[in-house]
Amino acid sequence: MSERDETNHRFGTRAIHAGQEPEPATGAIMPPIFQTSTYVQAGLGDHKGYEYARVQNPTREALERNVAALEGGTHGIAFSSGLAAIEAVVKLLSAGDHVVSEENTYGGTHRMFTKVLARLGVEFTFVDSRDPEQIRDAMRPETRLVHLETPTNPMMRLCDLEAAVEIAHEREALLCVDNTFASPYNQRPLQLGADIAVHSSTKYLNGHSDIIGGIAVVNDDALAEDLRFVRKSSGGVPGPMDCWLCLRGTKTLHLRMEAHNRNGEAVARFLQEHPAVEETHYPGLPSHPQHELATRQMTGFTGMVAVEMGSGERARGLVEGTRIFALAESLGGVESLIGVPALMTHASVPPERRAVLGVTDGLVRLSVGVEDPDDLLEDLDRALASL
Ligand SMILES: *Cc1c(COP(=O)(O)O)cnc(C)c1O
Repeated sequence: MSERDETNHRFGTRAIHAGQEPEPATGAIMPPIFQTSTYVQAGLGDHKGYEYARVQNPTREALERNVAALEGGTHGIAFSSGLAAIEAVVKLLSAGDHVVSEENTYGGTHRMFTKVLARLGVEFTFVDSRDPEQIRDAMRPETRLVHLETPTNPMMRLCDLEAAVEIAHEREALLCVDNTFASPYNQRPLQLGADIAVHSSTKYLNGHSDIIGGIAVVNDDALAEDLRFVRKSSGGVPGPMDCWLCLRGTKTLHLRMEAHNRNGEAVARFLQEHPAVEETHYPGLPSHPQHELATRQMTGFTGMVAVEMGSGERARGLVEGTRIFALAESLGGVESLIGVPALMTHASVPPERRAVLGVTDGLVRLSVGVEDPDDLLEDLDRALASL
């Protein structure tokens, strides 16, 4: 992974500056929130490249340039949510086309694929992409897209992206990677050969739990144009205020991710050694079955940790017993969150599928924030002692 982009700037500098010039009218250093739906034209067809805000918005474009630079891509296409971004990728396909998807994706992705898009005639096969050969075996002549998530939500499984790229491209299928969990600070799929990196920017990119947003990043001009066409035609655009908030968030992505990585590792080590915890899933632990791949493909292991507590009752005791870790869905914000995926984020996944994936009623997922790590460990220690 190259540390510098074509501007010769490193990640932290790009996070703060990429995509943003002082505003020309006043010199404002922050991109203004262009809270407008339309733009006045001097004469018929005589405009400044801005006609209607579903199609063009300068605040949104600043965010898109910024995140594209962080992912090492050339185009960002922002959406109203992570699911809208993923849906737009599948809308590049037509009825009769086939998608190979990782089986342990975010629950809402699985629901959209099986309950909405499959109804419209796109076919899906779900595989365990820890074994890239499963992707190969599922490929058909009409496969146009491979959709992966690594690390997966919530089991922290990894897929070897270079192997997956080779398999997808052999069959001329697009490879899309949901990079929400890793964030571009820890992993850059486009630089490993993926065609599309998608995010729920609701999570680490924005980082402050105050917007819903999504973004797709690509390197190919034609692919960017196709995604923009889908967005213009389907309408899932983010508002300028949310884009501005996300852009404020990405300025500190490198600082936050360093702290998330550090705290995540401290919490994972603590939980792994705690007698009340049966199993800890964290790619940064040497005991993780894919730790070697994690160190090769990622530069940090995030604040996402999952633990098996052995029963739904013990899981409930833990998530209701913490005081700093708040019981809530979502992840990637500065504050620590805790939850039970089977009853929350993954409730939409059928129980028999959850069982196969290991998303048991006793599985607890933690999004470790950037608070003082000693307070976080004390909080967990207290809650575990009371079980
Ligand atoms: C939250 C999430 C999504 C969905 O994003 P929204 O912004 O909630 O629509 C997709 N993928 C992953 C990995 C997520 O965590």
